Amino acid sequence: MQTAQSQESIRFMSRYTGPSCKKCRKLDCKLFLKGTKCYTNCVIDKLAAVKVRGAKAGGKMRRAKVSEYGIRLQEKQKARLQSGMSEIPFRNMFDAAAKAEGQTGENFLRKLETRLDNVVRRLGFAVSLKAARQIVLHGYVTVNGKAVNVPSYQLRIGDKVSLDKALAENVQVKQGLTEAEKRNQRPSFLEYDAEKMTGKLLRWPDRAEMSYPVNEQLIVEYYSK
Ligand code: ZN
Repeated sequence: MQTAQSQESIRFMSRYTGPSCKKCRKLDCKLFLKGTKCYTNCVIDKLAAVKVRGAKAGGKMRRAKVSEYGIRLQEKQKARLQSGMSEIPFRNMFDAAAKAEGQTGENFLRKLETRLDNVVRRLGFAVSLKAARQIVLHGYVTVNGKAVNVPSYQLRIGDKVSLDKALAENVQVKQGLTEAEKRNQRPSFLEYDAEKMTGKLLRWPDRAEMSYPVNEQLIVEYYSK
């Protein structure tokens, strides 16, 4: 019998797992693929410093011209890599967002934002989406009291997400909780109870509260071609 984890790794075979900040450089955006590295040691910050120095010295940064298509593709890739999804489920999620009422781009970001793994991350139970996914896959998370080991699980308003108390003393979980406090990253659409290690989805997030730094309109254009 296959474990949930091996199924996941098969399903997400095309998921990017290489050195994290190389992708940040390629897409010119902090992707937060690996813990807190993008806060402290991301190639984007180093490049920005080089650009400032270059500008001061009167130099020009050479950059290849990117086509309209390339720009849209890049934006789609930013969101997809950050979500840790492979193309097919990502595309399916987009199609579902397009069918739903309201604006496609915002619907789509909302779906990404309220996936179980992302909410686990935003509550501070994990330092990164990748770590959040592991916690979910290993069965440490319940939704409304029931174990849910599916990272892509879509939360609904009123759903209560709890972390197994067994992880309360886990070093990584503690780091996540500390970082969440430090960066004040718990959004107000989530109600957090530190004592019970529980969070509740109070309402859908506003656009400004969503954590994907992408221009969703470009993603809509990419898929509408
Ligand atoms: Zn980075």
